[in-house]
Amino acid sequence: MVRVRFAPSPTGFLHVGGARTALFNYLFAKRFKGIFVLRIEDTDIARSERIFEKNLMDSLRWLGIDWDEGPDVGGAYGPYRQSERLQIYKEYAEKLVSENKAYKVYAYPEEIERLREELLSKNLPPHYTREMFERFATKERIREYEEKGLQPVIYFSMPRKTIVHNDLIKGQVVFSEGSVGDFVLLRSNGMPTYNFACVVDDMLMKITHVIRGDDHLPNTVKQLALYEAFGVEPPQIGHVSMILGPDGKKLSKRHGATSVEEFRARGYLPEAVVNYLALLGWSPPDAQEIMSMDEMIEKFSIDRVSKNPAIFDPGKLKWMNGHYIRKSTVQRIVELLIPYIEARKWTYKNRDWLERVLLSVRDRLHTLEEFTELADFFFVRPEVIVEVDEQVRQGLLECALRLERNGELSKEQLVAVFREVVKQLKLNAKDFYMALRKALTGKNEGPELVDIVTILGALETASRIKKALGVE
Ligand code: GLU
Repeated sequence: MVRVRFAPSPTGFLHVGGARTALFNYLFAKRFKGIFVLRIEDTDIARSERIFEKNLMDSLRWLGIDWDEGPDVGGAYGPYRQSERLQIYKEYAEKLVSENKAYKVYAYPEEIERLREELLSKNLPPHYTREMFERFATKERIREYEEKGLQPVIYFSMPRKTIVHNDLIKGQVVFSEGSVGDFVLLRSNGMPTYNFACVVDDMLMKITHVIRGDDHLPNTVKQLALYEAFGVEPPQIGHVSMILGPDGKKLSKRHGATSVEEFRARGYLPEAVVNYLALLGWSPPDAQEIMSMDEMIEKFSIDRVSKNPAIFDPGKLKWMNGHYIRKSTVQRIVELLIPYIEARKWTYKNRDWLERVLLSVRDRLHTLEEFTELADFFFVRPEVIVEVDEQVRQGLLECALRLERNGELSKEQLVAVFREVVKQLKLNAKDFYMALRKALTGKNEGPELVDIVTILGALETASRIKKALGVE
């Protein structure tokens, strides 16, 4: 049974990189009818916050990435929040100590710092060994610790040997002997380090495959050594390459929106974001680009995940979002647009009217947010005075008059009114319609004029014309 996990630290919003890691794990789990676990790595007490945990979960669910086991849904291998597993880490650290694979260090932080400086001054890497710490473990010091209620730090005795890692994505990676020194498993405040908690949890949660960002590749050597110390077969591990911005630099805030939350707020649809994320470093064998979650699950495989960095192209995501907006039902998009409309305190007649407004701009829409720029004039009268020659002015006024007289008209009748006036007054049609558009929308381009007029209605159209000519 395939068991994978997504193990975010709740120290911020879910970013593109994290969301992609979650997605790849999810696709892999579903592809093999396995289990997707959500584990919250909140042992950095200073930086972890519940609000971020909640936000991470909201973002994942919004994307359609659901977990089978996790802090809120439970599961057979819980608890799934590391801060609730401290006793487990302590036991496992003690186990390694009792087997002489780890040891307790009674040095104060400043003594460790001095040791580090000493090594560096001798041009040695700051790799500690058990021997280096032995001199601190005097009887007096141990008694002092006991009296003050201090806990020794537990270090892992890193085997000095070459460790070979066969990465699911990167292939063979060799960590040469002595590339890392002994490292902390448990801090004096009882908190485990990432590498230790990660291995204990992956082991106890029976994780079979780990897919994560390649910033964790240097940690893998420590983790493999820990599995060996526990006498447990490690999971298969694959490291996904990082995501770069269009300028080839590591994706960051400078490149615009990078968190799922921001994309959501800007009016991206989850199916577009998920589809785009899947293509960041993976492609299906048939090179199909537009895919539903089910299609992605069906086509996903780790061997088609690229070794090379992926480039995040906001333009392509936008394009894809536009595609999904057009593919979606009008009712759903209207539902999603209402918060944007309400946030601007715009009023509207009813859903049916909103649907018509949406349809008039839908072809040019990339994000829901853009709707507020493309369709604003339907809700707010433009502040505009149109400068036209006398003839066009007369034509516009004549139209306003006829519209007022007739009240609400059908689309065909409205078109007929304008056509007739242009013909009867022998107007330059181009000038006339340009001026009409400007009067109704305050802009030089936008939806089809007949759509605008029909949606606004005869009376509103008449009133806008008069206002733009300064006669009302
Ligand atoms: N908490 C780690 C992170 O967010 C998890 C890394 C891993 O998947 O092992 O980067």
